[in-house]
Amino acid sequence: MTEETYICVGCRKDVRIDINRIKKIICPFCGYRILKKKRAAITKKVVVE
Ligand SMILES: [Zn+2]
Repeated sequence: MTEETYICVGCRKDVRIDINRIKKIICPFCGYRILKKKRAAITKKVVVE
């Protein structure tokens, strides 16, 4: 399973997405396309390759 929890930037809801099955990351609640990956406890700078 590659399911991960994201937070929608638009409506701030938690969205669980399996990135292997879904190519487009989109919020099912409001349709917003910018989601932040949710990380436990510590907030770190994330380097996106
Ligand atoms: Zn949303």
